[in-house]
Amino acid sequence: METKYIFVTGGVVSSLGKGIISASIGKLLQARGYKVTIQKFDPYINIDPGTLNPYEHGECYVTADGFETDLDLGHYERFTGIHTTRNNSITTGRIYKTVIDRERHGDYLGKTIQVVPHITDEIKRRMLRAPEGDMGASPRGGSEGGFDFVITEVGGTIGDIESAPFMEAIRQLRWQLGRNAVCVHLTYVPYLKAADELKTKPTQHSVKELQSMGIQPDILVLRTERHLDDSMRMKVASFCNVDLECVVQSEDMPSIYEVPVNMQRQGLDAAIMRKIGIPVGETPAMKPWHDFLDKQRNATREVHIGLVGKYDLQDAYKSIRESLNLAGIYNDVKAKLHFVNSEEITKRNVGEKLDGMQGVVICPGFGQRGIEGKIIAAEYTRTHDIPTFGICLGMQMMVIEFARNVLGYKDANSAEMDANTPHNVIDMMEEQKTITEMGGTMRLGAYECELVKGSRTYEAYDEEILIKERHRHRYEFNNQYQDEFESNGMKCVGINPAANLVEIVEIPEKKWYIGTQFHPEYSSTVLHPHPLFMSFIKACVK
Ligand code: GLN
Repeated sequence: METKYIFVTGGVVSSLGKGIISASIGKLLQARGYKVTIQKFDPYINIDPGTLNPYEHGECYVTADGFETDLDLGHYERFTGIHTTRNNSITTGRIYKTVIDRERHGDYLGKTIQVVPHITDEIKRRMLRAPEGDMGASPRGGSEGGFDFVITEVGGTIGDIESAPFMEAIRQLRWQLGRNAVCVHLTYVPYLKAADELKTKPTQHSVKELQSMGIQPDILVLRTERHLDDSMRMKVASFCNVDLECVVQSEDMPSIYEVPVNMQRQGLDAAIMRKIGIPVGETPAMKPWHDFLDKQRNATREVHIGLVGKYDLQDAYKSIRESLNLAGIYNDVKAKLHFVNSEEITKRNVGEKLDGMQGVVICPGFGQRGIEGKIIAAEYTRTHDIPTFGICLGMQMMVIEFARNVLGYKDANSAEMDANTPHNVIDMMEEQKTITEMGGTMRLGAYECELVKGSRTYEAYDEEILIKERHRHRYEFNNQYQDEFESNGMKCVGINPAANLVEIVEIPEKKWYIGTQFHPEYSSTVLHPHPLFMSFIKACVK
């Protein structure tokens, strides 16, 4: 089959869940047996979100091939199980960089370089995933291609100045690709309480704006808090030149994982196929997904997990939250997550702050702010034997706490926080020492890790020896201290075979006290929850 392209844009307001809709479309087409990929185009100028503060843009999601990307890629992977790569997350900055590099190289032979056609051509090339330059095989990810469907989500809201070149690229592609392209536009239908009415005017305006750029949406997904009756949908259809069956409503759901089946019920995938001209055929049963939803609905007993971190923002630890939720559901419990601000934790109040927590996650992060609170939390959970999961910086804080309070090195620290500490139990990795550029230069992406037989971690991974997990860090456990840690009870149970780096520590005598230098949360999906999160939640409910 020739590749088909689906463009997803959003209007009226941001935060409508374009990423969830794109991921749901991907899931539904996959269920029909198609090979799908989903990519995100973000109009900001940063090359990637790796250098962005989580307050600006939420979590930074890392692909297996070591690219720092938008958190929507996490939704894509969790919903569909596909492995995204550096080619699935593009920014205006990257588009311009490619064009400018080419210009400096002399590739344009004296031409004036302009937004149209040079920038729009580069956007189109990437939307089509045409191989050239950095679109080839990824360093650690293997090659890709041969997709039946490429879903392209464009960040931002229609009317933004900065998304104009992306809209122009979509307009041209629509025209070029004919029926092989479909435009899905997501808008919002607000409910006005005083008038007791749902209002379609913002949707009409949003579609007009799209039309003024030469794009006629094929399908409208209306986000709404209240059910829209047929007359309402009919009104939108006739004002926006869209078939009635292509006006789909997406009501608020108790969980984002209900969205794909809700969209299927509304015929979103069928509408896409009709527009493209593919026979619709039978509706896929999606049994494993429905089984998961049943489990989710039945998991009502709660388990309380504390998230010790410094970002008081839902999106900052998105993948960790979702991994905990998913592992909870598969353990037949509802994970209730409680954010505990590490900046506010003191020796005196830690017991109170963590009161009632059946498990604690010490979150990843960068820099000094809030680390002493993480260390205090790690000490509290270790000495009170509360199941504890340290991730990346969280693992490093577990190590520092152990060095200070068990090994007796009161000044133990990470070289990140104190470059001159005499007991640098966490130190900068050798290959990091000569790096001066900030963007994309950490140890990033999937690396192998060899597990120690008989360890708790090895058990959690169902006795696998060689695992592969994704990383994002500059600092590492200092191997000079390995023997001392081990003889005092903290074991190094996962080692990267190529570089001999310690990737996992655990205290086997505790109920569950494990820290990983990598980020297991990036590879937990709806149908395959991550084994470490599974085992952690199991220990928490015990
Ligand atoms: N700041 C730490 C490092 O660079 C941990 C990073 C993280 O938690 N992702 O090693």
